[in-house]
Amino acid sequence: MRRRALTLEDYLVGIKAGDRVVLGRAITLVESNRPSDRELAQELVRQIQPRTGSAIRVGITGVPGVGKSTFIDAMGARLCDSGLRVAVLAVDPSSQVSRGSILGDKTRMSRLSVHDNGFVRPSPSSGSLGGVAAKTRESMLVCEAAGYDVVLVETVGVGQSETLVADMVDFFLFLALAGAGDELQGVKRGILELADLVAVNKADGDNVTRAQRARQELEMALHLLQALSPNWTPPVQTCSALSGDGLDDIWRHVQDHRRLLTASGEFAEKRRKQLVRWTWSLVEEGLRRAVLDTERAASLEDDLATGHTTPTLAAERILREFGVGK
Ligand code: GDP
Repeated sequence: MRRRALTLEDYLVGIKAGDRVVLGRAITLVESNRPSDRELAQELVRQIQPRTGSAIRVGITGVPGVGKSTFIDAMGARLCDSGLRVAVLAVDPSSQVSRGSILGDKTRMSRLSVHDNGFVRPSPSSGSLGGVAAKTRESMLVCEAAGYDVVLVETVGVGQSETLVADMVDFFLFLALAGAGDELQGVKRGILELADLVAVNKADGDNVTRAQRARQELEMALHLLQALSPNWTPPVQTCSALSGDGLDDIWRHVQDHRRLLTASGEFAEKRRKQLVRWTWSLVEEGLRRAVLDTERAASLEDDLATGHTTPTLAAERILREFGVGK
């Protein structure tokens, strides 16, 4: 049986009441690519805007297997137990390429997904990475309007996903692993520059000493980087998502970060800049799509391969079709 379509009013009332079923359907609406849904979704996002913005937005990244799901489940359940409402969203860069998922089955978050204060949503699975991130950002706003105090956004180090997530959150947490050369993985990928905190996970059992060594190495690597913020030096610590060690410290850092950046005015400025960059990235994405949809773009690769044109000439020709250049 088809579900009854909800009106804008239904969505607004349900979201305001914190109704999870309506919240889930509102996110489905936001994720939809149907033109009629897009219109309703945008009106919804516009109208909930005044009720958004006060949540703490935390991005979490790390290689597959580092323990992101375990960490989010443990941290999320702790926060829920303390009375906070916690929503988990994801940007999964793998699903566009392979149709599979690196972040995988969110039912792994067994504690959080059944907690009264928790809400776990898998990554939208269609569209370009930019498109997926756009949907996640709007889903985040819907969660905030529904009364969630903390939004955790999970991603993994593939392509641009980490940059996109770092640009939609207040605090970006990099989970690392001890092990041969792994410490430097984040350095190579440029992730360390984005991190507000680095935590070496799985610091338990036989692994404690190695984790501490990795912590020191990462700390040295971070010293070499220019600080992202004049008000914050990213801490490097160990933790165990399994035993819970270090999780309270991490949350204290998240709160300290919020307090310090708010006091200095940097927090509001960061959110403002994110909105501006966000808007431009939507414009860029729209332009790219429009250009790629043209016939000229379709024949471009053949023309280049056969030497019928040069990259500069080809680009100028396409731009002329859009009224840019002479
Ligand atoms: P993800 O791919 O980053 O989401 O990683 P998972 O959360 O699925 O964890 C991968 C594996 O590492 C699982 O078998 C977890 O039980 C294990 N794991 C996660 N966190 C810890 C930890 O703190 N200590 C130990 N010993 N194992 C962990």
